[in-house]
Amino acid sequence: MAISFFKPKAGENAVENRPIIDLQNVNKFYKTAVGDYHALKEVGLQIEAGEFVSIIGKSGSGKTTLLNMITGIDRPSDGEVWVNGTGVHGLNENRMARWRGKNLGIVFQFFQLLPMISVLENIMLPMDFCRMYTLSERRKRAMELLELVELADHAHKLPTALSGGQQQRVAIARALANDPPVVIADEPTGNLDSKTAESVFALFNDLVAKGKTIIIVTHDSALAKRTHRTALIADGEIVNEYVAKAIPTLTPSQLLQATKLARIQSHDAGAMILAEGTNADTFYIVSKGTVEVILPRANQSDVIAVQLGPGKVFGEMEFFHEMKHRASVRASEAGPVEVIAIGYEQLSELLDQSEVTREALRQMADRHQGENLSWRGVASW
Ligand code: ADP
Ligand code: MG
Repeated sequence: MAISFFKPKAGENAVENRPIIDLQNVNKFYKTAVGDYHALKEVGLQIEAGEFVSIIGKSGSGKTTLLNMITGIDRPSDGEVWVNGTGVHGLNENRMARWRGKNLGIVFQFFQLLPMISVLENIMLPMDFCRMYTLSERRKRAMELLELVELADHAHKLPTALSGGQQQRVAIARALANDPPVVIADEPTGNLDSKTAESVFALFNDLVAKGKTIIIVTHDSALAKRTHRTALIADGEIVNEYVAKAIPTLTPSQLLQATKLARIQSHDAGAMILAEGTNADTFYIVSKGTVEVILPRANQSDVIAVQLGPGKVFGEMEFFHEMKHRASVRASEAGPVEVIAIGYEQLSELLDQSEVTREALRQMADRHQGENLSWRGVASW
């Protein structure tokens, strides 16, 4: 494949070490006849270069509004939106269009190709608009992009002569015209049958492998699971992704409730998080780094029983079995750790609303208790 993409060097786009996408405390109010509608509430979202992220949530939850903040199609009422080192919230209209053309490729649900010009010309248009590449290079590059999406044979047809899946692949080729580091797609497979959706998804996977950062909104939770990370949005708020990963049986609004109840704790590498024998009152979800569950032995070195990474939980065993801690937990020496803490009373309130979650957590607790007992048995405590 001849097409060349810009390869970001490590740190090149990282102004002040900022992630390539960085939303800080973003609020969006829409003015409506019945007053302001709060469509995004204190949204924070960080995406690193090279990540493939899906955004999911019910219809009307704010997914498109969120994408519009990143693309600069719309502006936050307050908060900051940084994309590839640029404060999008502060760009004026004139600079916005040019900036967007070079930095972002945007793919829409309904393709939105211009119907009166050829497929090839549709792909050349963003290069013309941003005056990228020389005229002859533009045509050559557009052909290479069409080869990438396996539609070179259709270059001189009008878009309407193509199937929906083919049109969407043209739209992706167009999004790549100016070699933007970030591609944003709002329900790109929403209008495609599942086989065609699969080929479009495969194309996104290829682009991620080539170094692009990709964000897709999707209704398809099976597709979402195949991206690196999923951000769930409920009622204009982002659900903590580790809470969602750890307790997947909660509904989106229950997950949001859990997110609001959660307190984030930071621990230095090697620091003790909780000690064996103390009273248990908190359920924990690991959100950054690794924790070690350790069995202290008198006059001997500790035994590390298990290591838990992001999305894994501890403290659930003691919740169900009303016990003091049966092991100590500490941050691994490898680096600092962040855990999400939810008090037992608040966990109870959540579980009262979700029998299936109570059952899932109880089973996990029973399994862990069995493990804990067997460790002790083996070590003849
Ligand atoms: P999603 O993409 O998740 O379906 P949207 O971001 O399009 O949701 O919309 C979120 C909420 O904001 C919805 O309740 C929608 O009706 C409302 N909304 C979106 N755009 C506007 C607008 N321009 N004016 C008023 N309300 C809007
Ligand atoms: Mg939408």
